[in-house]
Amino acid sequence: MEHQIIDYYNELPSGINVIDKMNAELHDLQKKYNELEKKHNEYVKLHGKLHMPKIRINTIDELKIYADKIYNSVPIFKKIIYDFLNHEGWILEYDRPDRAGQGVMGYAECGFWDTFEMDELKWGDTSAQAFYLDNAYHNTEYNPYLQCEYNLYLKCKLLDELYKLFPEYTERKRGWFHQQIDNCFDEVTLIITTILEDECAAPLLPLWTGTKDKLHDIIYKKIMEQLFGGHGDELFPDENVNSGYIQNIIYYECCGNKIYGENFIETDITEGYCWYDGNSIINEEDSFTCPNCGK
Ligand SMILES: [Zn+2]
Repeated sequence: MEHQIIDYYNELPSGINVIDKMNAELHDLQKKYNELEKKHNEYVKLHGKLHMPKIRINTIDELKIYADKIYNSVPIFKKIIYDFLNHEGWILEYDRPDRAGQGVMGYAECGFWDTFEMDELKWGDTSAQAFYLDNAYHNTEYNPYLQCEYNLYLKCKLLDELYKLFPEYTERKRGWFHQQIDNCFDEVTLIITTILEDECAAPLLPLWTGTKDKLHDIIYKKIMEQLFGGHGDELFPDENVNSGYIQNIIYYECCGNKIYGENFIETDITEGYCWYDGNSIINEEDSFTCPNCGK
C-alpha cells in the first residue's frame, strides 16, 4: 500500500515531466506542422494556376513573322522529342541513364523516360535539376526534387527551346512553361505505363516490332498537343480564341481588339499530326483591320 502511495507521489513529478515533455513535443510538432504548411503553401504557389506569358507585338506584320517562327519550330520540337525517345542525337551529350534505376518505360525503349536518377544530372555549367526545378527549392536542405526521372533532360531541352522561341519572356523562375511540360509528362507516364501494364498481362517482352514506334508517336502527340493544341476538326474554336497554346503567347492589339498568333497557324492531327501554315485563314488581301479605327 505504502509502496503504491510512494509510487503515486513519485510518479507525480515524473508525470509533470511527461506533460512538460508532451508540451515540448507538441511545440516541436507545431513547429514541424508550420514548416510543412509553409512548404505546402510554397508547393501550391509553384504548382497552382500560373499565368501564361503574353508578348505584345507592335505590328500585324511582325505578328505574322513571329507566328511563322513558331510554326517553323515544330520540326525542331519533333526532333528533340524523338531523339530523346530513341536515345540518340542531343541526349548523348548528357549524362547516361542510371541502368540500376530503369523503369518500365525504359525497358519499353522509351528513351529511359522513367529511369530513376539518384544524382544530379549535368546540364551545361549547372545541373538539370537546378536549370529546370525551382532554385529556391533546389537550394534548401530539404529537397524532394533532387531525385528525378531521366526525362528531366527532355524537360530541360523543351524548356530551353521555349525560352529561345520567346526571348522576350525573360522570367526564369518556375512558371507557365514548366506547368505545361509537367502536365503532359505526367499524362504521358500515366498513359504509357497503363498501356504497358495491359500488354504485360500477356507475355509480350521483348516488345513486338513496331510497338516502340507507336509508343513514341503517342508521347510525341501528347507533348505537342499540350504546347500547340490540335484536336482534329475542332481546330482552335473561335470562342476559345485565347486558349493556352504557345502560339497565343504573341498578340497584336489595336483599340483593345486583339489578334493572336493562332490566326496564322493551323494544326491538324488527323493525318498523323501535320501542320499547315494558316495563310488560308488570313491572307494578304484579307489582313486584320481594327474594327474600331480601321487600321
Ligand atoms: Zn484600332
